[in-house]
Amino acid sequence: MTTSRSKPEGEMQEVEGTEGGKGKARRKAAGGQGKEGANKVRLATAWLGGCSGCHMSFLDLDEKLIDLAEVADLVYSPIADVKTFPENVDVTLVEGAVANVDHLELAQQIRARSRVVVSFGDCAVTGNVTSMRNRLDVDDLLTKVYREGPGQVPRGGEADKIVPALLPRVYPLHQVIPVDAFIPGCPPDPERIWTAVSALLRGDPVRLDETMRKFG
Ligand code: SF4
Repeated sequence: MTTSRSKPEGEMQEVEGTEGGKGKARRKAAGGQGKEGANKVRLATAWLGGCSGCHMSFLDLDEKLIDLAEVADLVYSPIADVKTFPENVDVTLVEGAVANVDHLELAQQIRARSRVVVSFGDCAVTGNVTSMRNRLDVDDLLTKVYREGPGQVPRGGEADKIVPALLPRVYPLHQVIPVDAFIPGCPPDPERIWTAVSALLRGDPVRLDETMRKFG
């Protein structure tokens, strides 16, 4: 099995480390035999600089979410209201690009605490919509939107420390931390998500067929 901590090539890539003891435990769980917490995959999803559309598509798994709950514990997610990213996570899906200092810190925490990190959706894979501001200087951007723009929200930056400082540019996830696999799509459709996630939960390598490797 190969490691694929590399730049995306428009397809889901094989993931290392899904064999061995924990991989076997996951296979058992995926077969519906292991409903105890100890046998379940520790799954996380995270939301960086994205619109939450990828998470909405994840929720569109509908009844498959019940299958998912049989084999995985959702240990961190914007839909689970867990405040701190936990240790010993098996698989983490990351929506969104890295746009501010909080995203950067969380991405590094995710990498340190997750065995498999997946770029989930086009913003994480390429920067996509979130990176459209890269052609602008950050200070110009803040001035246009927050100091001169409609609403003129007088917050952020060094003045009150409430809004996390923007990075000078927006990065796709793999330019900040090593990433093991990529799920393209804006958002990825539920079938694509399920194909990838169910393989990861079984401890199998994941490959998306050609129709599932498209951006947008
Ligand atoms: Fe939203 Fe599309 Fe980015 Fe997902 S990839 S966060 S749906 S803009």
